[in-house]
Amino acid sequence: MLSHSKLGFGLMRLPKDENGVIDQTQVQTMVDLFMHNGFTYFDTAYAYAGSENAIREALVKRYPRDTFTLADKLPAWKLKGPEDVERVFQESMEAAGVDYFDFYLLHSVEEKHLPTYEKYNTFDFLKEMKAKGKIRHIGFSYHDGPELLEQILTRHPELEFVQLQLNYLDWENEVIQAKRNYEAARRFGKPVVVMEPIKGGTLAVLPPEAEAIRKQTIPHTTPSSLALRFLAEKEGVMTILSGMSNGEQMKENTATMRNASPLTETESKAVAAITRSILSADTIPCTKCRYCVAGCPMHIAIPDLFTAYNSQRLYGEHARYQTYYNKFSSLGNPASACVACGQCEGVCPQHLSIVSLLKTVSEAFDH
Ligand code: SF4
Ligand code: SF4
Repeated sequence: MLSHSKLGFGLMRLPKDENGVIDQTQVQTMVDLFMHNGFTYFDTAYAYAGSENAIREALVKRYPRDTFTLADKLPAWKLKGPEDVERVFQESMEAAGVDYFDFYLLHSVEEKHLPTYEKYNTFDFLKEMKAKGKIRHIGFSYHDGPELLEQILTRHPELEFVQLQLNYLDWENEVIQAKRNYEAARRFGKPVVVMEPIKGGTLAVLPPEAEAIRKQTIPHTTPSSLALRFLAEKEGVMTILSGMSNGEQMKENTATMRNASPLTETESKAVAAITRSILSADTIPCTKCRYCVAGCPMHIAIPDLFTAYNSQRLYGEHARYQTYYNKFSSLGNPASACVACGQCEGVCPQHLSIVSLLKTVSEAFDH
């Protein structure tokens, strides 16, 4: 059911002019380049301001409907009552200029949004739209852990595919849990649409040490091509979305994905070394043994707060890790609550200066 070329055009980061308005001429050029290279999957969302209108003009009005596939998404945070579900869906259809979506997703299903989707019967609505031919395939994008993912897939077998944040840097990340989410989706036999394969551009321009590894070991590659090929070879990956913002990125990515071959052994080793290099940068070497936690009189989740700090140092995305930090702070106390009793430092096998490190963490997250 879901066969097409594996690169998708993510429309979240469309090119804009100096006034912040989407550059429609450039969008049209990119759509043409994409289509002429044999790629057909476009991913928009109600929440990507202006992108539905942009793709209507650049794609829907200019190409036969059966030559491309269009994905759109329903955002929980725009729903104030059950009547909004159909209203938002209709607005998306009108903005995109289509009478059906090939793929329609619940946007960013996570612990915070799932109750809204369930309260307003959006799952039943999607099934109804599918039965009426207005949606070909229903799915959801996901930003939480594998346990909740399995619960959702168990409760809602009607969901046909999952969109996940996957890239080689997040593969073993404890917050994003890319690998574990991918494995959970595949256990349920669901095809996977990949988002953030290049981590918002982070893996297109490597930090100096990581870039040196690439140049020394696999100079024939580019950073972006490595990131895409790491995912293209994975079983069950249906589409890899890249939020391309200019023609150069599109030329490189379409060239990579036209003939994407699996990573060679040498390339896989280089990717592992690049990953290690990035992950070793300026972070707190806590091994998460949790020996320090039980005796803390202030009930500070020390290793979890360190994980939040390390993750934002490595990956940026401060808002995401602020949320993570807030979650563990609220389970106990924030880093600023440390009274410097020294209990934790006395038991830490890594001999970390925890009191001082918590001050650094507090400066980053406690406002
Ligand atoms: S130093 Fe701070 S974090 Fe460590 S045990 Fe004492 S209060 Fe808790
Ligand atoms: S004892 Fe040290 S290494 Fe272990 S979790 Fe606490 S801070 Fe991390």
